[in-house]
Amino acid sequence: MTRGGAASMSTSPSPPIVGRLAPSPTGLLHLGHARSFLLAWWQVRSAGGTLRMRMEDLDAGRSRPEFEAAALRDLEWLGLDWDGEVLRQSTRHDAYRAALARLDDLGRLYPCVCTRAEIERAVSAPHADDATRRYPGTCLGKFSSEDEARASSSREPALRLRVDPGTTRVEDAVCGPRDFDIQAEVGDFPVRTRDGMPTYQLAVVVDDAAQGVTDVLRGDDLLSSAARQQVLYAWLGQPTPRWHHVPLVADLDGQRLAKRSDAMSLVALREAGVEPEDLVGWAARSSGRTGPSRGTPADFLGSFDSAAIRPESPTVGPATFGL
Ligand code: GLU
Repeated sequence: MTRGGAASMSTSPSPPIVGRLAPSPTGLLHLGHARSFLLAWWQVRSAGGTLRMRMEDLDAGRSRPEFEAAALRDLEWLGLDWDGEVLRQSTRHDAYRAALARLDDLGRLYPCVCTRAEIERAVSAPHADDATRRYPGTCLGKFSSEDEARASSSREPALRLRVDPGTTRVEDAVCGPRDFDIQAEVGDFPVRTRDGMPTYQLAVVVDDAAQGVTDVLRGDDLLSSAARQQVLYAWLGQPTPRWHHVPLVADLDGQRLAKRSDAMSLVALREAGVEPEDLVGWAARSSGRTGPSRGTPADFLGSFDSAAIRPESPTVGPATFGL
């Protein structure tokens, strides 16, 4: 067989990667978001792939058009771009309904009329926080239909996904393989709320599949969600993307930056005179990328391997930027 013949054709080029930026317009973006979004951009752009933008604006009570505008402005200020239009989750209800119908056809959903307070009382785990509170299955097998649940409780039901017992392994490029026992840890989880809204877990899976996302790079606070999302991908007949959960950024006290960390918001840093090149340089250094000490995102293009990202949170304070 000659070079360039059938033998070399068998090593087919890897398919193009598709990543995404998925901010929630519920507050100002801070340095932690900037770092995750830069890493997602480097991953995709280094591989010549496609980067999608999605606004996760399903939470009508907390999403604000001004936060969406601020997020897009901040990302452009950083020097990030994306391909195609912004997809807003608030326009995607038909797709979420179709996914719920498929899960229902598979017999995986059941109506649940429990309130949060009732679940808390039932589990009697006084120190459990939201992430560790397990649903004990109170409504499993209780109602034959949503209508019956509504009629017998005078409440709008949520819909929960029936989760099989056992381990779900998340193969994460940054964190390594991690096993989750979803049934033991969170129980049957909601895919539609009692307000009739798709939950984050459902919407993110439906949208990542619809946008053809092959690589999800985001904060490691969502690592355990990846297990639930894998179960949904399987039931929806979609391939699971590759996972890259990167550590969140912490302040000098070791507290992870949150949306309320307004001093480290991009807008506050910009107003204090920090230039995007400084921020990009810091994000690159803190994730092991080589290049100049400061520069545009494109100055740090080059081979990208998320496995090289340290799993510890980088820390920042105003002094990081000479403030
Ligand atoms: N919209 C979510 C956030 O801003 C990210 C969800 C995801 O990346 O899956 O925290």
